[in-house]
Amino acid sequence: MLLDTLVHRLQGYPELLQTVSLAQLIKYISLSAALRQDICFAQPAPASPDGPPPTYLPPAVCSFLSEATGIPYGLVQDAWHIVRYDVWLHPGPNAHAALVQRALEEHGLKVGIATVAFYPPHFHCINPLCGGRQPALRKQQARQVVAFTLADGARPAWAINLYCHHCHTTYHHNFYLHAGQRIYYAGIPDFLQVGEHQFVDSGLAALWTDLMVVSWVSATNCARSYEMSLSKSETRPDDWQFSFTLTTEQVWDAFVILALLRDHERRGELLHIPHTGDQRDRFMAAMEHRNTRIVKEGQPELRHYCDRCIRFYEGPDPDAPLHRVQPIVVDGITLGHPCCGVFRCRVPLANNRHRFCPPLAVGSLQVFPVRTRCRRTSVSPVTAVGVELLSARGAIVAGGEVIQRLTARTEGSPRIYSIPALGHGRTRAGPSPGAAYGLAQRGTSGAEQSCIARGR
Ligand SMILES: [Zn+2]
Ligand SMILES: [Zn+2]
Ligand SMILES: [Zn+2]
Repeated sequence: MLLDTLVHRLQGYPELLQTVSLAQLIKYISLSAALRQDICFAQPAPASPDGPPPTYLPPAVCSFLSEATGIPYGLVQDAWHIVRYDVWLHPGPNAHAALVQRALEEHGLKVGIATVAFYPPHFHCINPLCGGRQPALRKQQARQVVAFTLADGARPAWAINLYCHHCHTTYHHNFYLHAGQRIYYAGIPDFLQVGEHQFVDSGLAALWTDLMVVSWVSATNCARSYEMSLSKSETRPDDWQFSFTLTTEQVWDAFVILALLRDHERRGELLHIPHTGDQRDRFMAAMEHRNTRIVKEGQPELRHYCDRCIRFYEGPDPDAPLHRVQPIVVDGITLGHPCCGVFRCRVPLANNRHRFCPPLAVGSLQVFPVRTRCRRTSVSPVTAVGVELLSARGAIVAGGEVIQRLTARTEGSPRIYSIPALGHGRTRAGPSPGAAYGLAQRGTSGAEQSCIARGR
């Protein structure tokens, strides 16, 4: 309908013309378009969404439209007479969203407009060091990014940074950047920045967290399943700069950032992390700080007790304090957490795939419980428990012989032993160091020792 026609028709309904705003009329059209089937099947005579629009609206639909749009009930039917043919041509909500997305991707991307745009939540400087002036921020940079959404898969998006010229602070979607520190905003944002050009829907990050906690789904499999079922990577525009493929590292970053932001939100604090360095190291100090706090203070559940999980009993001495009994239910499986393979070593691993902490992880150090004579390497003089043995990669080759460095842990200074080469200067990989050391500690049987010594 042309605007001229609309104005002409409205003149026939002066009360409607003086009462209803343009916003109300637009809302009326989009809501009634979503109710086409309800309007058709409530008619006394059969009507079809594919046929012409019915002349009258059912009373229930009139009530709904009146309450939802604020148009007086008595005028809802008048409005229907004016716009019913346009309502019938208007796309439903899903089709409308798809139309908007397609239009933005066809015509908007080339001029820097996308379905998803990541602006900072503030348009005035909030840095307390800015002197309380709160100047308006200016647009600094817009860059292409990828948004991994839960509902629409991976989408091309733009991230826009704003800048304060007074305190030289840059504002991003999740945090502001000042003096080499990223200071996250309070609360949980709708999207988490997990890479320089990648953002993940917070709902998606929460889903991954739940999958990891409930079903032990690995980050790799979270990324794979997203790629297979949700990413719609075939819709990627050809000229978009970045891939629509999600990586394992990005899933881990989403997990870590969401967990840290939730932790800080609960305590009413802001997350600070360094802006420099590798992405994988940025959150290390914040994670260590949280873990140390949990170790010292315990989790909130630690302080829980109720009549169902704690019982008090009197002992034989009525004057003595009551005995407290608190049952703990476990399934017998203890997964533990990654730690250095050396017993009681507290140095953290550089990577969870490592067996030893950085000071010991030269080559691939292996604990070697040599109680019995090792048939493959003939190190008969060495009988100490917990001897460290460098793997073949760390071996020194001299005069056609492989020389392994064996260090008795019970002695202060390393001792060098010469070991005959295995075949062409090859040594066998040892057993799992932590397991071997644990077995030796508990007094392993002769057969097990033999297996361990053979490096099985
Ligand atoms: Zn400022
Ligand atoms: Zn309880
Ligand atoms: Zn260690």
